[in-house]
Formats: sequence, C-alpha cells, structure tokens
Amino acid sequence: MTFLDMNEISDSVRRVFSATTTALSANIDGIARSATLAILERVQSARASGRHVIDLGIGEPSFATPRFISEAAERAIAEGRTRYTAVEGIVALREAIAAEAQELSAGRRLVDKSEVVVTSGSKQALFESCFVLFGPGDDVLIPSPAWPSYAEMVRLARATPVAVAGDHTRGWKVDVHSLRASATPRTRGLILGSPMNPSGAVYDIDELRAIAALAAERGWWIISDEIYRPLSYDGDAPSILAACAPDAEVVSVGGVAKAYAMTGWRIGWVIAPRMIASAMIGLQSHITSNATTISQYAALAAISSKAEAEVAQREMLAALRVRRDLAVSALARVYPDYVKPAGAFYCFLPIGDRTAGASADFVLSLLHECDVAVVPGSAFGTEGWVRASFAGSDDDVRSGFGSLADFLQTRNG
Ligand code: PMP
Repeated sequence: MTFLDMNEISDSVRRVFSATTTALSANIDGIARSATLAILERVQSARASGRHVIDLGIGEPSFATPRFISEAAERAIAEGRTRYTAVEGIVALREAIAAEAQELSAGRRLVDKSEVVVTSGSKQALFESCFVLFGPGDDVLIPSPAWPSYAEMVRLARATPVAVAGDHTRGWKVDVHSLRASATPRTRGLILGSPMNPSGAVYDIDELRAIAALAAERGWWIISDEIYRPLSYDGDAPSILAACAPDAEVVSVGGVAKAYAMTGWRIGWVIAPRMIASAMIGLQSHITSNATTISQYAALAAISSKAEAEVAQREMLAALRVRRDLAVSALARVYPDYVKPAGAFYCFLPIGDRTAGASADFVLSLLHECDVAVVPGSAFGTEGWVRASFAGSDDDVRSGFGSLADFLQTRNG
C-alpha cells in the first residue's frame, strides 16, 4: 500500500455517506465528514508509523490553558460543583457573558442573561442557531470560502446553503452587492464569520453596518460567528452587536476555545432574542442538557477575572503575532505581496491550479514529500487554495511554512 491513496482526501471531503444511505436516515443524507478532522487522522496515522509530521492543519493554539482558569475548575471539583446545572448554564456565567456582550455592542444594546445560552462549544451554538432558525425551503447565504461546518449545519436543518463568493482581493470578504446578487426569494438568513476562517480577514464596523442594514431590509437573520473575535492583530474586531439595531434579528455566537486556549473545555454560547434563546434551550434540553459544569466554572473565571485574563490574552496574542510574522516572512519568497491576516491564525494561499481536486492532491503530495499537513481549499468551498495554520509552536511554524514555501516554489517553477 502506498503511504496515502491520492483519492482518499478527495473522498473524505466529498459527501462520504452517499454510498451507504440505504442504511441511514434521510437526516444524514448528503452530510460530509469534517475535512480538517480527516487530515488530523492522516497526520496521526503518519506519526504512528514513525514520521515526524508538522501539522499546519490544526485549528487550535499550542498554549496551555492559563493557570487561573484551570485552578477555577479544580476548585469547582473540590467544592463538589459537579452536578447538572440549568440547561442554559449557570447564572453567573450567563450574566458575565451578557455583560461582555453589552460592552461589545458599544452601548447600543442592553443584554439580559435570558438572551444567553451556554453550549458545549460554539459548534453546538451554531448548530442550534441553524436548527432553530432555518428549515425546509429556506436558503441560507454563506460567504465563501467558509468553515465547512456552516453548510453541513444548514443541511442538517434541511435548509439549503447558498455559497456567496467573497472577493479574494479583500481577504475573501463579501459585501452587500455580492449578497444581493446571490439572494433568492427563499433567502432567510446568512452566516457571517469575522475574523474569518480560513482567510483571517476581519470585517470593519462600516462593512458590518452595511450588511446588517441589508439583512434588516430583507428580513434575513444574521448568525454571526465571533469565536475568533478576540484574536485580532490590528485593533479590535467589531462584533455584529455594535453594528445592528438593538432589536435586530441577529444571533451572535462566541466561546472560550480559541481566545483562552480552552479548545478541549467545550464552552460556547449564543446571544439571541429571548424567544430564539428559549427555543434553543428547549432543543438543547433534549440533546446535551447543560454544558459541562466544571468547564462552566472555568469559563466564568476566564471571562470575569478581567485583570488575569487580559495579561494571558495579551501574551497569547503577542506570541501569535510573532508566529504570523514568521509564517508571512517564509511565504514572502513565493508571495512577496501576501497580506498579513488581520485575525484568527490561518493563512489562505493560492496553489496556482484551480482544477477540480487540485487542492486535495496538493495536500497529499505535501504530506507525502515534506511531512507537512495543511487543509485543501475544496473543504472550504474554494478550489485552488490551501489553508495553513500558524497556531503551532514557533519552531513548527518556521519550519512548516519554510517547507510549504519550498514546495510551492518547486511546483510553480
Ligand atoms: N467557528 C469556526 C469558524 C471555527 O473555526 C471553529 C473551530 N474550528 C468553531 C466555530 C467551533 O469552535 P468550538 O466549538 O471549539 O467553540
């Protein structure tokens, strides 16, 4: 057997369940497996066979969770706070999230804890938002390239994802013109992520205001994925809450995973109008109940211990900025004009070939020849590009992006 079959990744990012739908319900029909997790599996199997693989496919910072946060979790265990909580989360955490959201709205909005639902990661918050707001017959606009789960979540709600191509000269951002052009009479909402995964671009307040105004005019819901919001390198990334009317049909999703190095703790949240929040609580009561109690206390410490959190976040952001610069300077050999990503921890790069399957083939060749893993653009709905993460250690970023640049240079002559 060869190290990796060249068709394997293309298969995993295709609709993998299609061959077996006779055994599965229509609920799962057409749902694709997560491509990033598929890459992770390949990295793990290559490592198990003794290879030293640098994983630039990862979507998590390499830092340990700050000590004051872990200590809060240890205290929660010691004090026996290990039972069920209310489905929507503990009051203190919801109050802290509501207070933060109010601040982010720049005084435009009073946010009450009844509008906050704590979830098992922001992934669950996004899924519940899609499930509660969209259904059969609805079109949902998804600026593209996009994090792969948005489209699958919309499909799970039996609605139809509609990709809206972003402008690659503007970090793949969309604007009111491209959204209008892709809208149909069935359009019911859009999912906007900022800072964006995979491009790292950040929507400024005017861009958000224009999109919020269009959505209000058309009666569309906006689901705003703000999981990377605190990871912004050139000033604060604005929240949709600062751009829309206080009573707008907007759901804002956040979480502690990326900003506090807490990916494994699984705490996210949604801020939504009360009626939507209570529908989500009803849904959540039948699937997961409350998010892990101990993790809720850890998240409470992360959000409410302002001084400690500020120091920890400043350090992490400074370290990520160094890694971003290492990545971009390695890439400068191939792309001298590459614009530094303004947020998150990804570089999205053209590979010079937009034919079908090109990015998956690129990923496999890079892994096979250089022991470096990245994610194919096809997974984000954009062929001919790949995503490389600079969230790993300085050494991994230096050497991984160095090999990636060498590989691109050799390939593109
Ligand atoms: N949104 C985006 C854009 C992401 O990249 C991720 C994780 N990779 C999530 C949401 C989910 O984050 P979590 O569930 O860990 O909070």
